[in-house]
Amino acid sequence: MLLRSLPLSVGCRRDALAAYPVRMIAITQVVVGSRQRELVSEVLESGQLAQGPMVAAFEDLLAQIAKTRHAVALNSGTSALVATLRALGIGRGDEVITSPLTFAATLNAILAVGATARFADIGPDYTVRLDAVESLVNPKTVAVLPVHLYGLMADVGALSRLTRSSGLALIEDAAQAIGASADGIQAGKLGTGCFSFYATKNVTTGEGGAVTTDDSAIADYIRVLRNQGMKDRYQYEIPGDNLRMTDVHAAIGIPQLEGIEAITAARQANAHRLNQGLSTIEGIEVPWEPEGRRHVYHQYTIRVAAQSPVDRDSLVASLRSAGVGAAVYYPRLVFDYGCYRDDPRVRSDDSVPAAFDAASQVVSLPVHPHLTEDDVEAVIAAVRQSVSGAG
Ligand SMILES: *Cc1c(COP(=O)(O)O)cnc(C)c1O
Repeated sequence: MLLRSLPLSVGCRRDALAAYPVRMIAITQVVVGSRQRELVSEVLESGQLAQGPMVAAFEDLLAQIAKTRHAVALNSGTSALVATLRALGIGRGDEVITSPLTFAATLNAILAVGATARFADIGPDYTVRLDAVESLVNPKTVAVLPVHLYGLMADVGALSRLTRSSGLALIEDAAQAIGASADGIQAGKLGTGCFSFYATKNVTTGEGGAVTTDDSAIADYIRVLRNQGMKDRYQYEIPGDNLRMTDVHAAIGIPQLEGIEAITAARQANAHRLNQGLSTIEGIEVPWEPEGRRHVYHQYTIRVAAQSPVDRDSLVASLRSAGVGAAVYYPRLVFDYGCYRDDPRVRSDDSVPAAFDAASQVVSLPVHPHLTEDDVEAVIAAVRQSVSGAG
């Protein structure tokens, strides 16, 4: 694979870990290639560091991947969520239905515009269940915000039938799902797509985000919003913000957007080898790929069954001591923190038993494109050893 031949520019990471008894197989690894260095130099020499041709090229490539008419680059995935909620006019008194098993940004964005977050329980694919969403819809509901967790899309076809027939907006938290699809529909196409290009994501610019949409009104609003509300020079249309991406960041992302198929194929190949090696282990459930959905394996997440000889937290500890950078996404549901507890806009009383179970049973293993075949075999051996050693 092309990616494997790239120089390990973050060698410092491995050096820093050399003091440990075993080399850590990291859960995520950033590798900057020569084409990225070239494009970044081009930006530095051009003198146009922000909102220039690299950002425009980045947007064109992303729109091609999402198959949307528009892609608007921003400075983070959080900005993409907040800008989308604002573009849709969502605010105080409005309810947005989302997943309880997600990163804090999803909830924080809903709170940032003053709206109320409701939580629908998840299915075995870790995304919101249609019937759970339906049961929360009430006259205050304005939007459904599924999270395409670990790189697997929620069933957006079914969700969009519900949102269209009920007059609700569909917003996709696609931060982990660039290149994913469901029944041939790309992530960020049916709903307003919110992407992140943070350092750990499948495509990274360091920090960055974007909104994808076919709706010109939403795209125009967000283009104006990201630039202090300015359409023409010093003509302010709305009270705006500074949400712009820099050309330096766009230059880092462009080669990855161009190579998205290779990045995804490498993740899928690693995931399929992990499946082969792990699916026969008693008490371990490997990830599920529902029919028609293309999983892009932002995370490869196994589940430690209730009857397994090992519990989740001791499995993570044992894997780490064996040099496997296992991680838990997420150890607690998004609303289950003191800072949200007394906020009436965070409806932690919604019933989400399957999500609670998942948060206590999931473990993510390294699946990134820079793993060697030996790394993948070492991950399999470590899981096998950890589970049988606990029996
Ligand atoms: C990363 C992420 C975000 C936020 O993106 P940032 O670029 O870090 O602001 C939002 N939602 C999910 C599910 C994410 O994984």
